[in-house]
Amino acid sequence: MAVTVLIVEDEEKIGRFLELELMHEGYEVMKAANGREGLEKAQSGKADLVVLDVMLPELNGFEVLRRLRKNSDIPVIMLTARDEVMDKVAGLDGGADDYMTKPFAIEELLARIRLVLKKRSSAAGTAGRDKNQLGVGRLHMDVQRYEVSYDGKQVELTHREFELLRVLLENKNIVISRDTLLEKVCGYDYMGETNIIDVYVRYLRSKLDDVYQVKIIQTVRGVGYCIKDEN
Ligand code: CA
Repeated sequence: MAVTVLIVEDEEKIGRFLELELMHEGYEVMKAANGREGLEKAQSGKADLVVLDVMLPELNGFEVLRRLRKNSDIPVIMLTARDEVMDKVAGLDGGADDYMTKPFAIEELLARIRLVLKKRSSAAGTAGRDKNQLGVGRLHMDVQRYEVSYDGKQVELTHREFELLRVLLENKNIVISRDTLLEKVCGYDYMGETNIIDVYVRYLRSKLDDVYQVKIIQTVRGVGYCIKDEN
């Protein structure tokens, strides 16, 4: 699907030039010639990125950005006049993703647009990954529903077994000490047996490893436990 860039620029020549260049690169282009119209179009949800001039009639670029950021995190690249250093600072503080100083080489703007879009999409990928879904191999944990399954079959765990497994899955490939596990699973003021973690690991193994003939929780001698991603 084509990426739509909104150009907010009152100077018609520059706007037209940017439009042609962006279209040539395969972007869909929307244009606005003043701050108010720019804000409306940026909030419309139809654009994927905004190229926003600072000096604009009606609302200047900073004001547009300030209002836009109240309810939108659409990527914004600001265009500032040469040597307006304060503008750059204000733009970045105000939530701009990047800025360009006029006059600029179009190739540089195109490169920055690509970079900002790439950063955003990789950030969205991380944020979009559901933290409530954990697992390794055929083992799956739905934290929100408080369910664990292996190969699609439900595994019944006690609260502490579940918590222990959750901590290990959340820290996949990291060795976690017994003390840390004790604190996370039983609370740091736990005063009972210190080998309780070993006991829970044994319970978990009896419900998973022994049943499914696998080795999910690794013991790291003298240190603690770890769940490793399957190779
Ligand atoms: Ca302008």
